[in-house]
Amino acid sequence: MMRSQRIYKVAYLSLVIMTSDSLATGEAMHSVIAPPSCSNNQGEPVLFISRSGLQGRVAAGMANRDTDGTPVIYRMNYDKATPAFQRFVDFHECAHHQVGHVDQLHPPRNSFEHLMNESIADCVAILRVREEANESFDGVIEGLKTAMALVGFPKISTDSRISNVTNCYQDHGSSAEFIESVLNQSGAN
Ligand SMILES: [Zn+2]
Repeated sequence: MMRSQRIYKVAYLSLVIMTSDSLATGEAMHSVIAPPSCSNNQGEPVLFISRSGLQGRVAAGMANRDTDGTPVIYRMNYDKATPAFQRFVDFHECAHHQVGHVDQLHPPRNSFEHLMNESIADCVAILRVREEANESFDGVIEGLKTAMALVGFPKISTDSRISNVTNCYQDHGSSAEFIESVLNQSGAN
């Protein structure tokens, strides 16, 4: 398989954070948090790598394997996101490693499977927020709303995503249990 096919890009452009106004004034620069612990479903540690792109207004994450096979998460323009949302993006990308998405063929964009994978990653991420940074829940929701609106997603898409995240936060057990159930269902365990 071509290496490029294995790239697992973030759906929903979940991670666009700031307006051009705040960029211009420099008001919304944030300090970048230390990355959380993360290892994939094979027990390999995941390396976090910061990158600045030409499109400096957009903060984003991407989970992949590097050219030498090392599991990595690229953190792009994280200083454009609040710490609460940076952490959520880290957890979301880590989840793609934890449930094995990174090593699966990327499903077609906007296919059911693709959207399912994004819902799973969001669910794991908000459970880790609950476990490791519960005080930032409201900040995560605000960050999601802002990002989705900025990218131009219709309100129904935003509502659906917030609904999934909120249901996971309220109804699910631990992130470890949820990851285990996903791995069992996918036969990756
Ligand atoms: Zn994703």
